[in-house]
Amino acid sequence: MVLDGPGQALRLAELRRPEPGPGQVLLRVRACAICRTDLHIVDGDLPEPKLPLVLGHQIVAEVEGLGPGVEELSAGDRVGVPWLGWTDGECRYCTGGRENLCRRASFTGYHIDGGYAEYTVADARFCLPIPDGYPDLQAAPLLCAGLIGWRCLKMTGDAERVGIYGFGTAAHLVAQVALHQGRRIFAFTRPGDEEAQRFAKELGAEWAGGSDQPSPEELDAAILFAAVGELVPVALRAVAPGGTVVCGEIHMSDIPSFPYQILWRERVLRSVANLTRQDGVEFLELAPTVPVRSEITEFPLDRANEAIETVRAGAVRGAIVLLPVAGNPTEPAPS
Ligand SMILES: [Zn+2]
Ligand SMILES: [Zn+2]
Repeated sequence: MVLDGPGQALRLAELRRPEPGPGQVLLRVRACAICRTDLHIVDGDLPEPKLPLVLGHQIVAEVEGLGPGVEELSAGDRVGVPWLGWTDGECRYCTGGRENLCRRASFTGYHIDGGYAEYTVADARFCLPIPDGYPDLQAAPLLCAGLIGWRCLKMTGDAERVGIYGFGTAAHLVAQVALHQGRRIFAFTRPGDEEAQRFAKELGAEWAGGSDQPSPEELDAAILFAAVGELVPVALRAVAPGGTVVCGEIHMSDIPSFPYQILWRERVLRSVANLTRQDGVEFLELAPTVPVRSEITEFPLDRANEAIETVRAGAVRGAIVLLPVAGNPTEPAPS
């Protein structure tokens, strides 16, 4: 499914099977989850995508071929391909453990063709191991929603009372990890979205309500998974002195001005950008111990446009995963 330009529907196309270059692997896609960032790319919110582009950066795939020089993977390995697709490995960020900030980084399904396809290629060094026993459908949303959620949660330090604004895919995964760690979850949804509030409570949130409602108690941290700048001062008002507000979205509407008083007393406002491979390895080791479970809605690849609009409408709980039209995975969904 090909994006020809911003604002256009994806186009079903027959592409030549890609050839793995040096250091790359040829992958047969088994599942690819949709991320909100895919919508931002389609909408033109993110500048200068590769065009035409195959979207998709939550890919579970099987290695089918090796390019020159690949030693770390073998044919038949099952791997995950996340958003971070390539870095230069030599800048101050890369050599300092912060490759997520590499200025020359390339991102999967944005600068590099991704997983809304039957085949793709990826740099072997940026493929992540998928835990055994995790079915493809369950593993796919871990690769961005889960990973970015994990990085956001780490940025809250040891916060006990964690508010989550925007209860979609990332929130439903990170809430499970946070509860497993003994934290308390307060879920803020779109005002009036009782379905999302019920979902949050089923997952173990102590409280769920609209983002227009006051928090029932002070929070130690808040994570924003909504692209709504107006929520930043709302969240700052809800956190206690010393608390952190983490913005997990790649794109957000403008943040309205707010009185210094709500930042004062060592509250911290920060963003989280991308992921490091270390985040990926950590989170994929942690996920089976929780265990993190996704609610999945499947769409065949050729209905990707409909799947994207379903994400946009917020009309589904959990995650939406695309399955290649030919050669569908045969694993049953977990109970
Ligand atoms: Zn770098
Ligand atoms: Zn993503």
